[in-house]
Amino acid sequence: MRKQIVAGNWKMNKNVQESTQLANEIVNGVKDLTLDNTRVIVTPTFVNISEVVKVTEGSAVEVAAQNMHQAKSGAYTGEISAEMLTSLGLKSVILGHSERREYFGETDAILAEKVNSALANGLEVIFCFGEVLEDRKSNNHFNVVESQIKNGLFHLPADAWKNIVLAYEPVWAIGTGETASPEQAQEMHAFIRKIVAAKYNVELAENVSILYGGSVKPGNAKEIFSKVDVDGGLIGGAALNSADFLALVQSF
Ligand code: PGA
Repeated sequence: MRKQIVAGNWKMNKNVQESTQLANEIVNGVKDLTLDNTRVIVTPTFVNISEVVKVTEGSAVEVAAQNMHQAKSGAYTGEISAEMLTSLGLKSVILGHSERREYFGETDAILAEKVNSALANGLEVIFCFGEVLEDRKSNNHFNVVESQIKNGLFHLPADAWKNIVLAYEPVWAIGTGETASPEQAQEMHAFIRKIVAAKYNVELAENVSILYGGSVKPGNAKEIFSKVDVDGGLIGGAALNSADFLALVQSF
């Protein structure tokens, strides 16, 4: 059975003290929960990863990175490699977030390279994609999502998919307070599973966790997470305080 995941994307928020405090609160909060089939992931900024790893060690809370560079090492001032992440004990990295695509020029081609580098280093990839508002208005959202997934991931052999998690994040719903309706999320997630099954096979598609992201809050999570093809969420704003985040972890 595929895993349910609640992943907090902390983005460029929280200094080191705030990050360790939040991580601590989450570690304490999940202690008494029966998580069974649910993974809990937090993603601090690079500079705070080490400290958050220390706080979460031995707990059910996993730490992931928000991004990485595709090159192995070398003259890439300001960048972070996959190997640097694994050397800290990290198991996962988010790639393709719409903010990386929009503000940092990350193209499908760059993302395919990043995916390869992450997988080659044994990292699981939480691969993000999603349409902008104009695409949805012009009924082009399925095409956009299909091409982002195809260009970023369909070069991979089937066995690489055990280390892929998908995150559908309609750009118009990120940080806007506007969520996709549970029906819109389900419709897209079912479509995603269908194209993955067509490219690979049904079993592989059934085993991939597909997260929804975009203004998920304690008030709407239960309904969204209850949809058959929605396996959890990638959470921005509501991941920045432990009460909300812990409520989301319990929203299945
Ligand atoms: P949001 O962000 O929950 O604040 O909308 C989600 C994301 O960007 O991953």
